[in-house]
Amino acid sequence: MQTELDRRDFIKSCSAGTLTALTCGLSDTLTSAVAEPPAAKPSYDCIVLGLGAMGSSCLYQLAKRGASVLGLEQFDIAHVLGSSGGISRQTKIAPYLGGPNEPLIRRANENWHGLEKDSGQQVFHHCGYLRLGVNQKLVGGKGTKIELFDESELRRRFPQFQQLPPGTNGLFDHHGGLLRCELAIASHCDVALRRGAHIRAQEPATDWTTDADGVTVTTSRGRYRAKHLVIAGGAWNAKLVPQFRDKLQVTRLSLGWFAPEKPVSFAVQNFPIWEHGSYYGFPVLPDFPGIKVGKHWKGDPTDPDKVDRTPTARDEKFVRDYLGIHLPSANGSILAFKVCMYTHGGPWLGPLPDEKRVTFIAACNGGGFKFSSAYGEALADLATEGRTELPVQFMRLG
Ligand SMILES: Cc1cc2nc3c(=O)[nH]c(=O)nc-3n(C[C@H](O)[C@H](O)[C@H](O)COP(=O)(O)OP(=O)(O)OC[C@H]3O[C@@H](n4cnc5c(N)ncnc54)[C@H](O)[C@@H]3O)c2cc1C
Repeated sequence: MQTELDRRDFIKSCSAGTLTALTCGLSDTLTSAVAEPPAAKPSYDCIVLGLGAMGSSCLYQLAKRGASVLGLEQFDIAHVLGSSGGISRQTKIAPYLGGPNEPLIRRANENWHGLEKDSGQQVFHHCGYLRLGVNQKLVGGKGTKIELFDESELRRRFPQFQQLPPGTNGLFDHHGGLLRCELAIASHCDVALRRGAHIRAQEPATDWTTDADGVTVTTSRGRYRAKHLVIAGGAWNAKLVPQFRDKLQVTRLSLGWFAPEKPVSFAVQNFPIWEHGSYYGFPVLPDFPGIKVGKHWKGDPTDPDKVDRTPTARDEKFVRDYLGIHLPSANGSILAFKVCMYTHGGPWLGPLPDEKRVTFIAACNGGGFKFSSAYGEALADLATEGRTELPVQFMRLG
């Protein structure tokens, strides 16, 4: 029988093995780039603690503006042990039109395209977003391309969906699509390294303190100084910032990939990302088989250091219940199953109360990835200028 330690090592080696595919080869570049770490500077402008979605985006933004910056990550760059693993994340603008997130999603999309230009990687696949629902109304805004498909048009365009309740129509947001999550994180880090950032992966931070001149971060390997610290620890935030311990709750969720009868009818050029009630899914990508399906719900409370990463029969049943009825031609064999974590609470972004030298982000709930390219910019603004033009005031702490 495998011990807990064996299982953890196994998970780590498995994730390393699949990362080259998920990051389109960037993980190899990054591994060699961090193999001979440059000597740490006596002091940095900023240390970014946690290089997942939010931290890697902040590191990239800081490096792009010429700041001297150190990124610390406890695992590998672009791993599957936090909240940003699993190949793809949804993005769309329709649900945010007219609300406080509209300018942020628009800025985030500009920044994703900026990242693609800087890195030469395709991070965003524009396959569109389809929301199924009963008697939905058309939403729209300036410069948007959003359509409403009635029942018959929906059946004609997407016959893959079956047994939809009477009155179901489809809101189709042409601005939607999927983001390659591991590739985006790896690309942010890759560009940051090219712009002079230092990155230390496999190096957990164990403590941080502030004083009149700056911050000190202690890790498993050393101690680093900076003028400013950005904490972007995702599911570990409550361990890094104890004053948030009672305000954040981590839960376990799962995601499955299934073999469709005809993969081409679910290919990314023919099939969108979609949402139907609490279920959502993704098309088949050119470099990874199977459609991905998940259920958006609260999840089971867990601890990020003890989360059970072994998929269960219950995890599978959740998604099979949907596939069996509404996407029967995709209800094939399992190709992959991954466990992921939501962090409930927030979203928060801003200086820590009484700690002007520390900027904190907790936006690790079910929909944070799509905004991370904009959040990273706001974090970088706050870390360097103490203010940001981006409208994130509604996320302030305290
Ligand atoms: C199942 C699931 C589906 C989702 N679907 C979508 C979606 O379709 N669209 C969308 O927009 N969002 C989605 N989300 C949400 C989105 O993925 C998260 O909001 C986002 O990835 C969180 O990013 P983060 O940077 O906060 O956390 P992470 O990416 O997990 O990064 C935190 C990092 O901090 C590191 N760290 C923590 N402690 C330390 C330490 N002591 N020392 C060094 N490093 C440390 C961790 O190792 C980790 O790499 C989904 C989330 C899940 C779980």
